[in-house]
Amino acid sequence: MRKIFLATAAFLALTGMQNPPSGVADTPLSLWRLDCGTLDIGDLGVFSDTGLYSGEKKTLVASCYLVQHGDRLLLWDTGVDGALARKPKDAQGTFLKEKIVSQLQRIGFDAADVTYVGISHYHYDHTGQVADFPDAILLTGKGDWEVIKVWKPAEPRFRHWLSGGGKVEPLDGDKDVFGDGRVTILQMPGHTEGHQALLVRLASGPVLISGDQYHFTENREVGGVPSFNVDRADTLASHDRFEKLAKNLGAKVIIQHEPGDVGKLPAFPEAAK
Ligand SMILES: [Zn+2]
Repeated sequence: MRKIFLATAAFLALTGMQNPPSGVADTPLSLWRLDCGTLDIGDLGVFSDTGLYSGEKKTLVASCYLVQHGDRLLLWDTGVDGALARKPKDAQGTFLKEKIVSQLQRIGFDAADVTYVGISHYHYDHTGQVADFPDAILLTGKGDWEVIKVWKPAEPRFRHWLSGGGKVEPLDGDKDVFGDGRVTILQMPGHTEGHQALLVRLASGPVLISGDQYHFTENREVGGVPSFNVDRADTLASHDRFEKLAKNLGAKVIIQHEPGDVGKLPAFPEAAK
């Protein structure tokens, strides 16, 4: 027994893991889906670089997620611009019912309670309200952070972190967010340079949250690549990793923009456990 313990301790020391990924499930873990906007897509064809969906229309949702691990919170993505809240749909067909901070208040949290903000990627519909969480450590793909540093349209949202006012952790590998293997940010580059997905191993089963690895169910089924995409080969390799993880873990897959996937988690303010 002692031998096994020593071997395990040596393995953990070698791999730098502080805790084994199982057997530490006593810290409560909860997952909420937040409404972070809707997007009317006038021509769905932009989501295919192989000529699919041309001329079709679809309304996509923008989803954010809150993970509570004991007394720490991870906010995953920050939706569309908070200035759109409770206004009529804008010229691009974007609508936001309620800001994230207001939704968090409804379940008893303030913006300052958020320990980490993880962003799947730097696009406007995933980073719109990031500036509302200045106390949070920003967890962004390293490749994305390099772009944010020089990309003027993104600069105002990230000014606080760019200026050194906030902590940022650019990730160039997977990140075990809370150190017990239950919440992992996964590097899935391709859609953007440092695109990321999120794996949450709830007591009720693992949930794999897509980022924009896919934008809706049909383009997951065909393994499609959007016309706006940074590296096609990387996106296909990330599709492969995503699908293998989903299958091998038996994970519930949630495509963040897919309206049909909203119901895969309890309706806010209820949380999955
Ligand atoms: Zn998106």
